[in-house]
Amino acid sequence: MGKERRLNILHLYPEQMNLYGDRGNVLALSQRARWREIPSAIVTREVGEPIDWDMVDLVFMGGGEDTHQSLIAADFVEMAPELVARLQDGMPMLAICGAFQLLGRSYQAADGRELPGIGFLDAYTKAGTKRAIGDVVVQTTLDIKPRTLVGFENHGGRTYLGAATQRLGVVQLGQGNNGVDQSEGAVQDHVIGTYLHGSLLPKNPHLADLLLSWALAYRGFDDLLEPLPSHEEMAAHQVVLARRRN
Ligand code: GLN
Repeated sequence: MGKERRLNILHLYPEQMNLYGDRGNVLALSQRARWREIPSAIVTREVGEPIDWDMVDLVFMGGGEDTHQSLIAADFVEMAPELVARLQDGMPMLAICGAFQLLGRSYQAADGRELPGIGFLDAYTKAGTKRAIGDVVVQTTLDIKPRTLVGFENHGGRTYLGAATQRLGVVQLGQGNNGVDQSEGAVQDHVIGTYLHGSLLPKNPHLADLLLSWALAYRGFDDLLEPLPSHEEMAAHQVVLARRRN
């Protein structure tokens, strides 16, 4: 008999970094695992707390207001060597909005102050003059079906990717990374950064399952993730798709 599948999900800074239902992403991951009889534990880590990285199979970090980003930025940079080593080894991570920005090299807040990022992504973020707010539809570069991702953005920062980091997709609705080059989000190794709040994963179950399959592979379980019926989740996905300009 093989090893029993199980997963440990690390939710980083849930107190400061949790906007517009971001926590729902963690719930979606653990519920979709549970439906497949894969038990999962959700571990949280706030500023200054210790973490046993060998126990972590998947990392989630949500968005935050500038003030909250400034409260966690130094701690995030301090833990970066341990985190980055694992990300480069294939540990999956989903980073939304303010977290996505801090995975890059730097984040300029609305008041002009610059926060350091951890530099995992070849990206930087500058303050914009007007907030980007509204529904978003993305045609993704990821090999998932359908190829669309839907969500809601609300950010002041404009993110620019360098050549070493691939975009998550192209916006069909909304502003995305910077409102200029049509790019949305970033993908590097098994790390996904995106501006999509929502929560994102409940209405993008195909993305949730990709992250779960990466986490299982990282833990050494290579068997395929069993398909699940996702009619309600995809109905929610369709509602946002229908808002695309024709
Ligand atoms: N404070 C950042 C910005 O405004 C991130 C906002 C967010 O996470 N929604 O760009």
